[in-house]
Amino acid sequence: MSENSPTPPVVSDGAPQPVTVSDESPSTDARRIGPAFRTSHPLASGPVVQPAPTVDGFVETFLGELNYGQGTLLSQSTLNDQYLALARTVRRYLMADWLETGARRRHAQQKTVGYLSAEYLLGRQLGNNLLATNLQDVAEEAMRRCGIDIATLRAQEVEPGLGNGGLGRLAACFVDSLATMDVPTIGYGIRYEYGIFRQTFEDDRQVELPDSWLSLGSPWEFPHPERQVLVGFGGSTETSTAADGTQHTRWVPDWTVLGMPYHYMVPGFRNGVVNTLRLWSARATHAFDLQIFNAGDYTQAVRAQTFAENISKVLYPEDSTPQGKELRLQQQYFFVACSLHDFIDNTLPADFDLHRLPERIVFQLNDTHPVIAIPELMRILVDRKGFAWDEAWEVTQRCFAYTCHTLLPEALEVWSVELLGRLLPRHLEIIYRINEEFLEQVREAFPGDEMRVRRMSVIAEHPERSVRMAYLATVAGAKVNGVAELHSQLLRDKVLPDFSQLWPEKFTNVTNGVTPRRFVRLANRRLSELLTDTIGEGWVTDLDRLRELEPYADDASFREEFRRVKRENKERLYRLLAVRDGLRLPQEAMLDVMVKRLHEYKRQTLKLLHIVSLYDDLVSGRVAPEEMTPRTVVFGAKAAPGYHLAKEIIFLVNSVAGVVNADPRVQGLLSVAFPANYNVTLAEKLIPAADLSEQISLAGKEASGTGNMKFALNGALTIGTDDGANVEIRRLVGDENFFLFGMTEPEVERRRAAGYTPAEVYETTPALRRTIDLVASGHFTGGDRQAVAPVVDNLLHEDAFMALADFSSYLEAQSRVDAAYADPEAWTRSAILNVARSGFFSSDRSMRDYLERIWHS
Ligand SMILES: *Cc1c(COP(=O)(O)O)cnc(C)c1O
Repeated sequence: MSENSPTPPVVSDGAPQPVTVSDESPSTDARRIGPAFRTSHPLASGPVVQPAPTVDGFVETFLGELNYGQGTLLSQSTLNDQYLALARTVRRYLMADWLETGARRRHAQQKTVGYLSAEYLLGRQLGNNLLATNLQDVAEEAMRRCGIDIATLRAQEVEPGLGNGGLGRLAACFVDSLATMDVPTIGYGIRYEYGIFRQTFEDDRQVELPDSWLSLGSPWEFPHPERQVLVGFGGSTETSTAADGTQHTRWVPDWTVLGMPYHYMVPGFRNGVVNTLRLWSARATHAFDLQIFNAGDYTQAVRAQTFAENISKVLYPEDSTPQGKELRLQQQYFFVACSLHDFIDNTLPADFDLHRLPERIVFQLNDTHPVIAIPELMRILVDRKGFAWDEAWEVTQRCFAYTCHTLLPEALEVWSVELLGRLLPRHLEIIYRINEEFLEQVREAFPGDEMRVRRMSVIAEHPERSVRMAYLATVAGAKVNGVAELHSQLLRDKVLPDFSQLWPEKFTNVTNGVTPRRFVRLANRRLSELLTDTIGEGWVTDLDRLRELEPYADDASFREEFRRVKRENKERLYRLLAVRDGLRLPQEAMLDVMVKRLHEYKRQTLKLLHIVSLYDDLVSGRVAPEEMTPRTVVFGAKAAPGYHLAKEIIFLVNSVAGVVNADPRVQGLLSVAFPANYNVTLAEKLIPAADLSEQISLAGKEASGTGNMKFALNGALTIGTDDGANVEIRRLVGDENFFLFGMTEPEVERRRAAGYTPAEVYETTPALRRTIDLVASGHFTGGDRQAVAPVVDNLLHEDAFMALADFSSYLEAQSRVDAAYADPEAWTRSAILNVARSGFFSSDRSMRDYLERIWHS
């Protein structure tokens, strides 16, 4: 091999070769990459600034991108060429701010928030970036001059669906707010090659298609191969004793992958700040294992490569129910190992004293997915940086904070000791030691209480030996927070009671929020204009100012304008659904929307029972058409592919929709739509058009919800249980502007303790019985009773989330909704008050709370 060609490291097929993991950049390409460039050129350390935007300038840059970026002429270009050229044009206007923000952050050396999240449900980027740069009008006019309708190009973008639902969307809202608030932040995550699946329906059943969001090019990302990180897996640990008697342990992995970062811009709202989202992609360490290759087994050599690259191949489509799969643990460790290494070795100055690490970073753990970062930091400090254990533990405890997102026991992540030890042997040792020392602390605080010690152990013994990740996060984290007041309280009292007794000061609440930029300003342009005309534009970054709207609730002409906005949003939505899904929906009816992941605890079946009972009331003549408040119900929901009952519920919703929509007796009075593939893009169209927001989870099960906040901010009234952030929404908007129903959490507990039997509710509630009987008869499935049996039997015999128990209360609340909607002036007044009083639910406020309660403490 010549002097210049890099030597690929070769792993021999027999004994594992020791590899130094994450200690240096992979040697293979280092010489070709070279060191950072130094020169005295005057433009070397400031960006070449894009000239101030004019329409002419924008056209010129756009055409330049088409010619020199896409290699095509406008007259020859495809839609995709045009979209990519437009995206790259917009990107240019962000670039100087991005480079400057980076330079400023390096210089200032402030404390950074490292947001660790396995999911970011970003939504489309083009619109958001046009908004952030204030280029919407310029770009629209520039495209018009080129003969292009910008809306067509917007529609060309496939949203990066790198998350399942609420948790991933929360991370996206948080990084948006942190940029708008100019908080030094790095969002760390995984660049899945395939995000959440694309949902279609065949014969009313969900079919999953791969989401190949990268296939037509991805103009918003910047690969940085020079910042690749090597990550190890498997192997064993070796302990040696030095001359002075100190022991030193070292992990010898037996296989490695490379993490390649892709950087995404996270622009603040017109403030010159662009933060970075750094998502990791897995690559094989060696293009080929030369020994296998030379032995003639080409396929085997390639397979090893494919194996490594599987790690970031696909997002697990489970929401709330982790599967405990090996690849999932590989993903988790992969991205946190890359992220910690990136921050410690590539972001901090080379001579940084790591004893001061907590002054420079706080890693916020978005649920338990990144919790393996805790033993990883211990390993880095103890094994690699020579810290004593206690010193390392002191630092580690101050570098992490943990956000819990659930109350469902089945959603609390555990990893079997067998798997963890096989994949990450050194981390398992570290976890054991953390646990030993922690349990000693428990014994000291509660002498003689061995039951408590066993309850609190990070290691569970049954049904198999496993590591409880939420406990590990609680032991190590400086703070633990729930995501709404009720949730944080239940977290303290029900999920982690022993821990909150031991460390009451560790527990805190930060109620979730949503970004007003995407979910109001971008999604609801008409409402935004009305708001800005009425109270000025400050609300976009100071959402509490929506309060100034309150007096206008009593202004008849404002109400008229507000109704116009809703009406036009509905028209826009129905035009879209006609093209997108072939749906035809009546303009005048109340628009009642339930969009969120399909899960039993969220109770889409309860909504379905309401629809069937309305339908039955009409066709049986119990309710005359003129007594009915016309409704259109829209569902949007993906079910995890392996969650059979959820998929049966989807089938049933589609079946009911088919029959109801085709029945002339209910035409114009009741329609049901279930557009496929609910995602951020669809949410942005649906929510601004909604009159009624369905937030009907069983009390005590929904940690917070954020969909509920988006709806309230867009002037929908909520029908909801006393659950999650609904509690706070109701308190803020006022009882009279919220439709409450159902059991409270303590009532749920009592009911369960008394022995809940759904069949009894069915027997004793005539309206419920009629409704379920109609479904069970096969009326909605062409007479096929078998097809509805899974859902019906589950409701009658299990009903784990007590839909039947809340049925009567729900129907009663829905009749209050009907009555209220019949008075448009009063309804509009309530809707305006929902907007005016929901400023609290800005994710900017959530970020202020994190800063105050967690990151600065
Ligand atoms: C906001 C949002 C969610 C979360 O909705 P919830 O009703 O809080 O469960 C899920 N998916 C998408 C696409 C969202 O925008």
